[in-house]
Amino acid sequence: MSLSLSTNQPRAPDNADDGVWLECIDCGDTFAPFEDVRYTCDDCDGLLEVRYADLPTFDDFEGQGVWRYAAALPFDAGVSIQEGATPLYEVPRLEDDIGVETLRIKHEGMNPTGSFKDRGMTVGVRVAAELGVDRLACASTGNTSAALAAYGSRGGMETLVLLPAGKVAAGKIAQASLHGARILEVDGNFDACLDIVQELAAGGEAYLLNSLNPFRLEGQKTIGLEILEGFLADYDAVPDRIVLPVGNAGNTSALYKAFRELVQAGELAEGDVPKLTGVQAEGAAPMVEAIENGADEVQRWDDVETRATAIRIGNPVNAPKALPGIRETGGTAVAVSDEAITDAQRDLAGEGIGVEPASAASVAGLRKLRSEGIADDDERVACLTTGHLLKDPDAAAAAGREPEPVPADTAGVLEHLQN
Ligand SMILES: *Cc1c(COP(=O)(O)O)cnc(C)c1O
Ligand SMILES: [Zn+2]
Repeated sequence: MSLSLSTNQPRAPDNADDGVWLECIDCGDTFAPFEDVRYTCDDCDGLLEVRYADLPTFDDFEGQGVWRYAAALPFDAGVSIQEGATPLYEVPRLEDDIGVETLRIKHEGMNPTGSFKDRGMTVGVRVAAELGVDRLACASTGNTSAALAAYGSRGGMETLVLLPAGKVAAGKIAQASLHGARILEVDGNFDACLDIVQELAAGGEAYLLNSLNPFRLEGQKTIGLEILEGFLADYDAVPDRIVLPVGNAGNTSALYKAFRELVQAGELAEGDVPKLTGVQAEGAAPMVEAIENGADEVQRWDDVETRATAIRIGNPVNAPKALPGIRETGGTAVAVSDEAITDAQRDLAGEGIGVEPASAASVAGLRKLRSEGIADDDERVACLTTGHLLKDPDAAAAAGREPEPVPADTAGVLEHLQN
């Protein structure tokens, strides 16, 4: 099967362009990568993956940020705002408290627009330029629209974003707005926005840059590559487990693909691939349901609710790529409550790391896995935090301390502090 951790070196089909092609994960059909706009398989509508004749090795990586990993990407350079190279923070108190051997926080909130979406967009907008399109579009719970607006404007392209009305955090709308996207507020949830924008894209109205677009996931692979290089440098070993929030499951799919390519290149032993562990909010947990039921497909949830708005998604489009990734790496998926998410957001803030609610799901999930004995105390773990605290200032203010009104004189302030 095309998705297994096989060690077969791929052979380029005739329609490859410079050793790069698109391949359907269901039927194996191949397509030229940059001739026509295409998001899914012409024959069976399956998800597409980018394939390479030459697989990357660690020695090929040079420079800093996403484009350090050009050997694992379809181009040597992209429309860039210096994305990637995010911190891999130590969190000694949290590590102790949760009870694992090692805990590091890969904070993707430190990207240019404050989320990992930038890594996908630097590649996706480069591909859009190659295809010669001039209008870009996405459906978004917020961060995709912020990143698309920024990278689109840097690339000199028009951008159109469809957002669920009233369900997007303030910081994200502000970004999309100032970077010049046309913002369409849809009276429906994210999944409805994605249905509409897919139809617009199919009708040629705009180039779709949701994570259904296989090129975006190529950029997001670099999260996994940075985590591996960071752990190898500090511990001479890759992490046992990577815990990440799951919305459309793009990152889960992308990290799995990054590791598969390293295994195929002989750079990573199959038994060393980190256990991919997905975390969803209890009110939006179709992937967790599928993993728990051992199902091959995810059943769409029509009603989803969580204060972690970035993962308020009932129909994870990348599930066919992500489910095998979780299973074949020996990982799992867990759901956490909104209260546990807010607690984890405070825990991270207590270590100086400011994240938005969805991001804290990873830490809440690890805590749950430890308390249930599913994750062991001798594990080396990386938790991914996907977006910055300032993305959702209302959630941060609600989870944090109340401001205290004081009079405008020192004596009055001193008196207040004494109480
Ligand atoms: C997009 C996003 C997610 C979901 O990521 P997927 O790759 O779709 O699973 C999680 N957290 C934040 C902050 C996001 O912006
Ligand atoms: Zn197909």
